[in-house]
Amino acid sequence: MLVMCPVIRLAKQLISIPSISPLDLGCQKIILDRLIKIGFSIEQMNYRDINNIWAYKGSGTTLAFAGHTDVVHPGDENGWKFPPFFPVVHDGYLFGRGSADMKGALSAMIIAVENFVMKYPNHSGRIAFLITSDEESKAINGTKRIVKNLMLRKENIEYCVVGEPSSVALLGDVIKNGRRGSLTACLYIYGVQGHIAYARLSDNPIHEVLPFLSNLVSINWDNGNKFFPPTSLQIYEIQSGIGCNNMTPDRLLVKFNLRFSNVITSCSIKKRIEKLLIDFGLKYKIDWELSGTPFITKSGLLIDVVKDIIIKKCGISPKLLTTGGTSDGRFVYRMGSQILELGLVNKTIHQLNECTKVSDLKLLSEIYECIIEKLLL
Ligand SMILES: [Zn+2]
Repeated sequence: MLVMCPVIRLAKQLISIPSISPLDLGCQKIILDRLIKIGFSIEQMNYRDINNIWAYKGSGTTLAFAGHTDVVHPGDENGWKFPPFFPVVHDGYLFGRGSADMKGALSAMIIAVENFVMKYPNHSGRIAFLITSDEESKAINGTKRIVKNLMLRKENIEYCVVGEPSSVALLGDVIKNGRRGSLTACLYIYGVQGHIAYARLSDNPIHEVLPFLSNLVSINWDNGNKFFPPTSLQIYEIQSGIGCNNMTPDRLLVKFNLRFSNVITSCSIKKRIEKLLIDFGLKYKIDWELSGTPFITKSGLLIDVVKDIIIKKCGISPKLLTTGGTSDGRFVYRMGSQILELGLVNKTIHQLNECTKVSDLKLLSEIYECIIEKLLL
C-alpha cells in the first residue's frame, strides 16, 4: 500500500519530532543511523547549539544532497486539522509541520540513496549529504559553516541538489537554478523633538523622511535579465512617535529589504541609497545586513539531467526560476558546484495545515534516484 511505503514511513517519523528551528531533537540521528547502515562515513559538524551532518560514500565526482531538519513554528495549533507534530495521511495528503519544507524531501533523498546503494553497492563517484538544523532561523552555524570547513579541506562538490520545496502547482513544474541576493537596511532618521503647536522650533523626522521614501520606492533598479526578475525593494517597517498628540518625535526608524539580481551589486545599491539620503539633506545612520548574494547555475549536466528526468517521470517540462527567498544553496555555490533546488509543492509551506501529496513523496524519491543514476553511473 502507498501509505506504508518507506518514504512515507520515514517522513512520518521525522515530522513527529517537533524540531522547531534551530532544534534538531534527534532527526539527524535517525538519518545518520540509516546512512551508516548503507556504508556512509559520517562527520557531525556541530557548531554551538546547531546540529549538522556531512556524510559521504564513495570517491571522485560528488553529488551532494542538501537539506534541513529544522522546521518553522506551527503557529496556532488550534488552527490545524491534525496536530502539527502528529503526522496523518488524509485524502491522499500527508499533513504535518515539515511535510513539504522539508522533511518530506529529506525522506525522499534518503530512500533514493538507499535504493541506489542496494542496486549498485560498488557505484562510482561519491554521494554526499549536507544536512543542518539551522536553515529556518539564523543560518549562521549551519550550511555556511559546513561549507567553510569543506572548502578549507579542499573538498569538491560537483553537483548539489537542494530539497527545498521548489514546485508550485505540480511536482517538478519549477526548479530553482539560482536565487536573488538579499540586502536589509535599518535606517534611522534624526530630528529635533518638539511641541506640536510650535513646529518651527522642532525638526520632525516623519515629515523629513517622506520625500526621500517616495523617491526610494520609485527607483527602477534594473530590468533583470534572462535568469533574474528585476530587483525589488520593499519597506516592511516604520516606527516613530512619542505616543501623545502634542509632541513630535526626534527620530524615526525605517526598515527595508531588497531582493536583487546579478545585474547590480550590493555595493552599488548601498552607494545609491546613501547618496539619496545626502541629497535629501537627512541626518541619518544606516545599518546594512547582506544575507545573500545572487547565484546562478546557468547551464550544465545537472540541469540537463534533471530536466530530462522530470519530463519523463512527471510528463511536464520544468521552468527554471530564481524567484523566492534565499536558500542554503547560496553557501554551497561558493564551492563552484552546479546547484539546483528541486522539491515538493510549496503551496502550504510555513502555513497552518502544511501538507504534501503522498504520491509526490514517492515520485520525488524516484526522481532523486534517477538523478543519482544519471550522474554517477
Ligand atoms: Zn526549507
